[in-house]
Amino acid sequence: MSTVCAIATPSAAGGISVIRISGEDAVEIAARVFKPASGRDVRTLEGYRAAYGRIYDGDTRLDDGVVLVFRAPHSYTGEDAAEISCHGGIYVTRRVMTACLKAGAVPAAAGEFTKRALLNGKMSLTQAEAVADIIGAQGEQLLSCSNSQREGALFRRAEAIADSITAVSSQIAAWIDYPDDDTPVVTADWLTERLSSIKAELDELLGGYDTGRLIREGISCAIVGKPNVGKSTLMNLLYGGERSIVSNIAGTTRDIVEETVTLGGVVLRLADCAGIRETDDPVEKIGVDIMLKRLEAADLAIAVFDGAERLSEEDRRLIPLLSGKETICVVNKSDLEQKIELEELEELFPHIVSLSAANESAAGILAQEISRCMRLDSLNPDAGFLANERQRSCIMRAAAAADDALKAVRSGVTTDAVGVMLEQALDAVYELSGRNAADEVIDQVFKRFCVGK
Ligand code: GDP
Repeated sequence: MSTVCAIATPSAAGGISVIRISGEDAVEIAARVFKPASGRDVRTLEGYRAAYGRIYDGDTRLDDGVVLVFRAPHSYTGEDAAEISCHGGIYVTRRVMTACLKAGAVPAAAGEFTKRALLNGKMSLTQAEAVADIIGAQGEQLLSCSNSQREGALFRRAEAIADSITAVSSQIAAWIDYPDDDTPVVTADWLTERLSSIKAELDELLGGYDTGRLIREGISCAIVGKPNVGKSTLMNLLYGGERSIVSNIAGTTRDIVEETVTLGGVVLRLADCAGIRETDDPVEKIGVDIMLKRLEAADLAIAVFDGAERLSEEDRRLIPLLSGKETICVVNKSDLEQKIELEELEELFPHIVSLSAANESAAGILAQEISRCMRLDSLNPDAGFLANERQRSCIMRAAAAADDALKAVRSGVTTDAVGVMLEQALDAVYELSGRNAADEVIDQVFKRFCVGK
């Protein structure tokens, strides 16, 4: 395999940049561009050794910096590798990269270092995907879940399911091949019990997918409520944390303001849908329709009411729009005398909180209710979970095959046919962990990566 090289740090001016080289000739190439101040040759450095020195392109001195050497298999990729740190200027970094290319390296593709780690058995495909999730994490929850996945939580869970499938398959095979020996008889009851337990495992994994998606992609929330109930105050309180992406979806009568905030370790994509109201004005109606669509697409509605007032007609018109939608009913202005029909709202909304958006502690109260409402607590990151659509589709195929096998047993189909269905389930589980994933599947996974990772 060729020796590849890439700039591993972002293309922006910074303190330092790192140029990463991996492959058989990595140390040789590093030695051509890097001369340690000690006079030592880079090729004589053991693994995990760093040296300070000068970086050259031929005879031209480019910079000074540090080289760090890794010896196979003790590197990220499992190959010989070197990392050259130089000053973090865009131009100087590119020059160092070009020098490495001239010295014999070829440019790495996106995710190529991690792909090599996969091919060299340093990690499974699900662990490689977790690396991309760690890089993309915007909140504590995803970071901690991705770290567990990186440690192999999902891989181990998939292996355990694969072992259960293999145990049944091999028993079937033994029974078919040597029915007269001491092989235990494969009865329909035994098969039903084993297959049901495998199917239950697969279903449990699938059941956690939506929660995993919310943690990964963030929860899209539509904030609704009539004017003056305190929506802006609540939004401002939430923005007060970490304000990040701001975008506006153009409406005709007004814009939906979208903000991404991190609350309780989870990313919330908030949309202020304040303008949902009845109107006969055709132009205004277009804006209202846009907001209704946004509400429909949201994972969660945060419906705000003014606790210091009785429910108005306008409040009541909002309630049916929330039917069938995960909703947290926020009864705001809890610092004032409460006049709202609380019992009525409690009947309507299983998730209801009384708070004062003017008080900072409201953010924590809301975060807890969001976690309860969206069942974020139900996700045990250490147990492994499905982190993306590819993984989910593998487990869906495995579950469908296990289900087919179960139905086949119940309808008295021959045991060897059941064995074939189990093979399909096993293939799908192995595709998840990358054991038998096709090259195209692997390529697709690494397309998400940045160059240099
Ligand atoms: P919006 O129209 O729903 O966005 O409402 P605003 O956030 O603009 O708030 C309307 C009024 O209610 C403002 O005068 C706020 O200061 C006030 N307000 C908001 N939240 C509270 C609260 O928790 N307690 C009290 N006493 N006033 C509040």
